[in-house]
Formats: sequence, C-alpha cells, structure tokens
Amino acid sequence: MRKLPRVLVVEDEPSIAELIAVNLRHNGFAPTVVFDGAAAQREVDAVLPDVILLDWMLPGESGAVLARQWRKHERTKTVPILMLTARSDESDKVQGLDAGADDYITKPFSTQELLARIRAVLRRRAPEIVNDSVQVGELALDAGTYRVTFRGSELKVGPTEFKLLHYLMKHAERVHTRGTLLDKVWGDHVFIEERTVDVHVKRLRESLGEASGMVETVRGAGYRLTAMNQTGKPAQGTPISAA
Ligand code: CA
Repeated sequence: MRKLPRVLVVEDEPSIAELIAVNLRHNGFAPTVVFDGAAAQREVDAVLPDVILLDWMLPGESGAVLARQWRKHERTKTVPILMLTARSDESDKVQGLDAGADDYITKPFSTQELLARIRAVLRRRAPEIVNDSVQVGELALDAGTYRVTFRGSELKVGPTEFKLLHYLMKHAERVHTRGTLLDKVWGDHVFIEERTVDVHVKRLRESLGEASGMVETVRGAGYRLTAMNQTGKPAQGTPISAA
C-alpha cells in the first residue's frame, strides 16, 4: 500500500476545517487540522506534510507570514502551499503568491475544486505522491499497486482490461464511444477495429464477476461505468469518487 498524501490544514474556522478534513479523508488524503500558525509550525516541525492548505486570515501570524517563513527554510521550501482566502480581492491573491504560495483558492469553494487544486499542486511539485487510485461504488482500482478490488476482494484483470477499467472509472457515469475508448486506452496512433473494444469489454466484465453489471452497454452510443447495477440493483447512497 502506498502512503496517503499528508495534508496540513491550517484553518481557524472549525466548521470549514472539519468539512475540508472529512472530504480529504474520503478522497485518499491524510489530513491534520490546526487552528493557528504556532500549532502549524509545531506540526511542520514534527512531521513534514506533503501539501499545506493555508488560510489567509489567521489569529496571530497571518498565512502570508507563515508561507514566507516556510519558503525560506531548507526543510519546508518545496512543500506545496495552497492558500485559502475568503476575499476575492486581487491584491490578496498577488500577496499570497508573492509570499510563496503555489496557488490560491477563494472561499466558498467546492470540494471538487479543492481536490483538483491539491492534486494539481502535488503533481507539479511531487508527482510521485499523487494517489492514483479511484473508487466507484464498491469497486476500487489502484494504479500504483496495479490492484483491482470489489468489496475488498482482489480481482484478476488483464493489462488491457486494466487500462480500460482505469479510464472508465476515472470518467465514471459518462458514456464513451468505442472511438473515444480506442483513443484514450489504446492511443490514437493505433489502427484497431472498434470491435476490438467490444472484445476487451467482454473480458473486463468476465474479470469483474459480481461487479460486471457496472459496465453498461449504451445502445448506439458506447459504454459507461456506473456505481449503479453493481448488484443488479441501484446502490443506495454509494458515493462516487473519481480521481
Ligand atoms: Ca480564517
């Protein structure tokens, strides 16, 4: 198992901090929440995080002061910093970036936007730790360890089917034409008949066993992977999280 990326959340509003932490936990990150600069510094000294979410307006030292300190020190200077700001004032953003933040996000923000920004700064600064795992319903795929599991049991999936499944899971609930799948999974320089896709989808369904119903044929359009149908019945309240 790969280690989950550690995210230090420096945010003095408990409700926002908690919401961020819950969402991070559900999406493959290991968050630690602190409410002010002094606690943030203690945490950074103890365990170096993989990314820091830093609120701009904090009691005591401001986010900008902290960012500037961390950028100056050898140990912390490459840790990605994503600034959280309540204000959409242009000068704040500029100051945040000047202080050494990699990016900023303006409150209120959506979970999806936050996750996308975190992944983007991690990819830029530390591509090796971006967690390339994806979960749809009870089906999980980890590209790092090359494992596919359904309800915790490992499934045997061939290399082409693995790539196909990875793409479908990352873009779940959308219909993909055979042409798109050929482009995205096989690469657009390869000349293969579209029927080939059908062959691999058939193999994929065989590999998925009980979860085979998650790969749907959409008549006249293509294929879709859905959290529904994993038991032949709609999954109740199953969250979908795609990387
Ligand atoms: Ca604040």
